[in-house]
Amino acid sequence: MSKSLQAIRGMNDILPEQTPLWRYFEGTVARLLDNYGYKQIRMPIVEFTELFKRSIGEVTDIVEKEMYTFDDRNGDSLTLRPEGTAACVRAVLEHGITGGGQVQKLWYIGPMFRHERPQKGRYRQFHQIGLEVFNLDGPDIDAELIIMTWRLWGELGIRDAVKLELNSLGTSESRGRYREALVEYLTAHHDKLDEDSQRRLKSNPLRVLDTKNAETQAVLVDAPKMADYLDDESRAHFEGLKARLDAVGIPYVLNPKLVRGLDYYSKTVFEWVTDKLGAQGTVCAGGRYDGLVEQMGGKPTPGVGFAMGIERLVLMLETLEQIPQEISRQVDVYLCAFGEEAELAGLALAERVRDQLPNLRLQVNAGAGSFKSQFKKADKSGALYALILGDDEMAQQVVGFKPLRGQGEQQSIAWDALAAHLATCVVQG
Ligand code: ATP
Ligand code: MG
Repeated sequence: MSKSLQAIRGMNDILPEQTPLWRYFEGTVARLLDNYGYKQIRMPIVEFTELFKRSIGEVTDIVEKEMYTFDDRNGDSLTLRPEGTAACVRAVLEHGITGGGQVQKLWYIGPMFRHERPQKGRYRQFHQIGLEVFNLDGPDIDAELIIMTWRLWGELGIRDAVKLELNSLGTSESRGRYREALVEYLTAHHDKLDEDSQRRLKSNPLRVLDTKNAETQAVLVDAPKMADYLDDESRAHFEGLKARLDAVGIPYVLNPKLVRGLDYYSKTVFEWVTDKLGAQGTVCAGGRYDGLVEQMGGKPTPGVGFAMGIERLVLMLETLEQIPQEISRQVDVYLCAFGEEAELAGLALAERVRDQLPNLRLQVNAGAGSFKSQFKKADKSGALYALILGDDEMAQQVVGFKPLRGQGEQQSIAWDALAAHLATCVVQG
């Protein structure tokens, strides 16, 4: 195939054999979010570049080197969204739905775009489910976000494979004081820092904390700790969060180096990490961003949220073999008809059955074919039962009902009784 007809590197097709698992995952999350009282919001995939520069921060990895930015035909600089929080904040401000302290508990799902080096668990188009809560400033809502994800891991059967890491970044004032102390310390050890960290020391010093470089890590052992600079308010908030996690029995580890990549976090930050996916170990990450809405031109509005990476979580379900059996079967019943008359009767019969059993997954054979070939297709479809309409059945106004998996003889069922019969033997989702 010529190159121009291939998908862009790092942007993947999700093939029909993979979509059942995606839909199971997405459906499970959506149901959970509904049950906790979150409402879905849908934002455009493209926004003005300025939005991301202003919210994510100019000196972050995302804005510095990962964005897909282009001029449109009017000469406006647009960017494919690299994350969802910026657009969500833009949307709530634009529509005034957080005004007057209105609480909003929102979630979204969709593709995000970052120009990174593609590898397992890291792509250029990837998918997130994200959630943002506005106008609640207490630790109770931070706890709810974490409790909800904990329940999700339980439902998905991956709870034992993930670990919660927590930190508090304090208010912007206490973070400012900490930043000064950190810069002073790191400047004194400037020559032992790797090149990236030397650069970050000037632009975004807190990010030096999550360096992967061993020598820099050694320097960091004796560096000042954020925990010692926390103001009373942030300290109380963090204690409140931990008390709630303890009450529910959710284990966590404190990670003072957890700073997250984006500029806008304050107080709580957290990540759910796993060692099952190699280097791409973070499956869900988030935190509080009380200053962001104001920074983007709104009234001071507390906010907290997280995003999870769908590819990484789907990979985990596969790796840990937590794929529910029922999602692999997509057909309950397969109808085979032989001859034109039977085909017409079969079509009408199928529609009558669908009227009565709207959740039945009934597939009608298309493309005619011999008894043998239709039967083969019925079997391959994964259906539990085949329905057979041939000359004999037509004469008696019945349909042959044949179990395809396991025991049971073929029976004849009257057309009028078919829906009732199917209702008793097919468990409907
Ligand atoms: P990482 O440290 O792995 O680069 P990040 O801090 O850049 O992650 P966030 O911006 O917090 O990631 O995004 C939230 C989640 O989205 C991540 O925890 C991860 O599960 C997922 N994610 C982020 N970038 C990618 C990517 N390029 N490909 C696949 N999933 C991703
Ligand atoms: Mg990243």
